Formats: sequence, C-alpha cells, structure tokens
Amino acid sequence: MVNISFLGGCREVGRSAILIESKSGVKCMLDYGIRFRGEERLPYKINIDNLKAVALTHSHIDHSGALPFLYKTKTIPFFTNPITLAITEVLIKDMIKISNYNYPFGYRELDYLIQNSFFLKNGNRQKIHDNFFITFFDAGHIPGSVSILIEVDNKKILYSGDINSQITNLINPANSNNIPKIDTLIIESTYALKEHPPREKLEKEFVEKIINITDNGGRVLIPAFGVARSQEALLILEKFNYNGKIFIDGLARKISMLYLDYPDYIKNIKLFKKALKNTQFVSRPKIRSKVKNTNGVIISPSGMLKGGTAIDYIQSILLDPFSAVYLVGYQVEGTPGRRLLDDGIFEFNESRRNRKTIVDLKIEAKCDYDYFDFSSHSDNIHIHNYIENLNFQKNSNRDIFCIHGDNKSTTSLASELVNKDYNSVAPETGEMYQV
Ligand SMILES: [Zn+2]
Ligand SMILES: [Zn+2]
Repeated sequence: MVNISFLGGCREVGRSAILIESKSGVKCMLDYGIRFRGEERLPYKINIDNLKAVALTHSHIDHSGALPFLYKTKTIPFFTNPITLAITEVLIKDMIKISNYNYPFGYRELDYLIQNSFFLKNGNRQKIHDNFFITFFDAGHIPGSVSILIEVDNKKILYSGDINSQITNLINPANSNNIPKIDTLIIESTYALKEHPPREKLEKEFVEKIINITDNGGRVLIPAFGVARSQEALLILEKFNYNGKIFIDGLARKISMLYLDYPDYIKNIKLFKKALKNTQFVSRPKIRSKVKNTNGVIISPSGMLKGGTAIDYIQSILLDPFSAVYLVGYQVEGTPGRRLLDDGIFEFNESRRNRKTIVDLKIEAKCDYDYFDFSSHSDNIHIHNYIENLNFQKNSNRDIFCIHGDNKSTTSLASELVNKDYNSVAPETGEMYQV
C-alpha cells in the first residue's frame, strides 16, 4: 500500500503539496506551494520525518512558494530542472520582498533549497530510494513545467501538475504518449468546467483590436503575468507582424531575459529572439514616464492588476477613450482586474511594507477594456482527452484524484470521471488515501 496525503490545493488553487509515502515509511514531497490569501498560507502540517526527496512540477508560487520551509533544518535532495530553479528563485525572492505576510522562512532557507537541487532531464528515471523512483514528463503549462511519475512499491502514480495540451506559441503542449501504464492519476482541474475559445481566432481578434487602437494614436496596456503569459503575448504580436512600438516592463522584462539563457525550453527560440529584438525594455522610472505617453503596446505585470509596474501605467490609460487595457489571463474574483471587467471601475489600494507611498485609486474606465482567454491550463475537453490517452494498468483501480481547482470544478470533474468508470474523487486538504 502507498499513502497519498493531500496537503493543499484541494478544492482550491493555491498551496499545492502532495506527500507520497511507501509502505516502509519513505516519503517524497511533490510541490510545496503557498496560497495567496487567508491566515494559513502554507500547506497542511504533517510529519515529514523520513522525507527522502522533494520534486517540483513548475515555478509558479502556488507550487513552489513554501519550499524553503522544508529546508530550515534538513538537507533533502530537491529535484527540478535549470529553468524552473532559476525562475523559482526570482519568484520566491519577489514574494518575500513584496508580501505583507510574514513567511516562516527567508532568503537563507531559499539558499539551502538551491544548494540541495539536482537537475533531472525529462524521461530519465531517478531513483530516490529502494523501490522508489521519479520521472519527469513535459506538461506544456509554462517553460520547464513537468508532470511527475512516481513508481513506488510497484505502483505507478502520475501527478499531472498544471497541464496544457493546447498548442501555444511559447512552448510545446503536454503529451501523454510516452507515459507508461499507470495505476493512479492526480490531475489538476482549474478549467475543468470551461471551454477555451479557438486559439487562432482569438489571437487574430487580439492583434486586430490592438492595431485598431495604436493606428489611431492610442496606447494598449497588457497587464500580463510576468512568467510565460507576457512572453506568449509578445510572440502573438510577432507572429502577426505587429509593427508598432512594444514595451515590456517589470517582472515580464526580467523573466524574458532569463528565458534567453534556457533556449531548450522554448518552442521557437529564433522567433522569441526576434520578438525581443522588436521590443523595448523598460527598467527605470524616467523611461517609464516617457513610455506612459508613447503610442504603442505596453506589456507589464501584474496579470490581475493587483500590483506590479502595470499600476504605474494604468491611470492615464483608463482616462483616455482612445486607449485600451487588454487582460490576457483569468481574473480571480475580488481582484482589481475582475472589477474592471465586471463594472468598468478600477479600484486599487496598496500599502506595501517596503514602500513609503500609499497608492489609492478609484477610476471609471473611459478606455476600451476586454479579456482574451490565453489560458495555459487544459479545459474540459482537453482534460478528458489527456486522460483518455493515458493507459491504466489492467488490474488497477483506475483511481483519479481531482485537485487544483475550486470546489465546483474539482467535484464536477470527479463525477464526470465516475460516469466514465474511473474511481474518482475530489479530495479535501488534510486527507490521506491508500492506493
Ligand atoms: Zn501553474
Ligand atoms: Zn497552479
């Protein structure tokens, strides 16, 4: 029997963490993320004596953010890949720097995490203990993202991590073809209730709207996530030969430069380099205030307008009827981005630990605003196709655990899978299952 403990990311998106324990009591942690709100930001506490390995699916902090906590006193091998490690470091440093929350770890523990890292190539089977192996497979979510196959006590458990099997411009899609026959699947459900619009059509519409604004002298602000989404937006503009001015700022600039150091993880590095050549990098406040009034496209985090350099641009754009704000990621309820889409009002107040100034804004948008669903998660059809392409062992229970989605998404996916003769549940945080 193998124990699977769900320590977070159950019926929610945030603090993903799964502990796998063999019958002899050897443990392996898969992801160890944080959640962004509430009192408890870290995964559910559990005994982690005999933890022999930690493995990470990708750099997003809902999967990686709490990893340093595991390195307060221990030295445990941390399995990842070069691009994920580099971006995880940037994101955790950023998280510690800007957060009002006092995390029970800091830069020192982050250093220990980095010192204990081992790089694993996709497809290479890594022994972590007797009868205990892990293998990474491409997950198609962001550059470097993987799904993890765990082989323990002759059981094969696949943890999808965040997956995307749609074709995008930045990376190759997830591919379940090379994954061996499994006994158990743990799958994300973020968009299990959604159907994404056809990508090509959406890209065309996006670029056409941008051209319409900038050809008429306006500015377009694209408040995109710094990791992957900003670069995807950049590649779409390049693909359609957009020839206006493009600026990139904040974390999006930093991550774009980092991606150049890891060309193997980018689908078309030539196109990416070309796109960056046609882009101006903004890093100083003086240049930022010039760019603010320049006709063109500004790509700048944060994706939901909760902070970041996008806030420096948005005020003047909102008040200009000839300009636009185009959001390119899902807007969580309660975020300023969601409020803008729903009510046409941008409301923002922020007092940061490390900032003396308090920003307090409430503006009715006079500009155009819209949302383009360039998601990096599989939707309902793609999740079902992905599962159908996987092969379960003949004598397995066909167990599928649906996690990483809200209550409705995880439970609906589980019941759809039950109807397809899988043994599926949406576990709750703190629950342990034996497979
Ligand atoms: Zn993710
Ligand atoms: Zn996630």
